[in-house]
Amino acid sequence: MNRKHGEKKKEQKNIARHRIHYLFCVAEKCALEGKLNLSDRYVALARKISMKYLVPIPTEYIRRFCKHCYCYLLPPLTCRVRVHRANIITYCIQCKKYSRIPLHNHTSSSRKLWINNQVFLGDQKT
Ligand SMILES: [Zn+2]
Repeated sequence: MNRKHGEKKKEQKNIARHRIHYLFCVAEKCALEGKLNLSDRYVALARKISMKYLVPIPTEYIRRFCKHCYCYLLPPLTCRVRVHRANIITYCIQCKKYSRIPLHNHTSSSRKLWINNQVFLGDQKT
């Protein structure tokens, strides 16, 4: 009984993942055709699905919508993208807010390695 329930959940999560992927594909298509209202709606649906089934939205898709007003970002039309001090800065034209993405992203493992190296170098000095 328990195993079956787990399998059902796994299947649901798989469907949710496919659905999110599909919704973002359609959102991009609509945005390119100029139907920005529709693509905003698709983003909202994808977010709802990801929250309901606890499926994270992939990073490539997270960067396609504004994290403040959740509108779809299509560079010349709804947002401006600049690079400043090793950050990708996206300016949303709808809510007039900025979001920054660091270019040199230190993941937890690489940071740990860096700290270990520093400790190692410090030991050598003394
Ligand atoms: Zn916004």
